Amino acid sequence: MQHTSFAEMPCPVARTLDVIGEWWTLVIVRDALVGARRFDDFKTSGIADNILSARLRKLVEEGVFERRPYGERADRFEYVLTRKGRDLLPVIAVMWDWGKKWTKGRTNTRLVHVACGTELTDVMLRGHCESCDRDVLPTEVRPLRPTAAR
Ligand SMILES: [Zn+2]
Repeated sequence: MQHTSFAEMPCPVARTLDVIGEWWTLVIVRDALVGARRFDDFKTSGIADNILSARLRKLVEEGVFERRPYGERADRFEYVLTRKGRDLLPVIAVMWDWGKKWTKGRTNTRLVHVACGTELTDVMLRGHCESCDRDVLPTEVRPLRPTAAR
């Protein structure tokens, strides 16, 4: 079912959702931020091939990813976040924080304060890093690859 496009709405939040609001899209961006580049890398989250193809196509069209050939074969591509895509890091960081606070379930993803390398707790993310005694901005965190379930 085709839903109403937010692309022309006079609000940046709505227009952002037009780009990244589809199911799976931010999971793909999250995985790219921790190093996923190739189609098979993104599949580890459990996304179906057809959905992944569609999302990557749209994100390339939107300029969130750049599609680059790799290796010997002409039909092999990797997907690299552009500046526009990397600018979604604070969005992911704030969603991580919100999800820790307001959703239930275990957490296998982690964030690190770029300035000092300390793993952040949910309390620290939008506040203060006790390790280096600096305020922490969402732009100053880096996600780490998921760990085993705990
Ligand atoms: Zn710190």
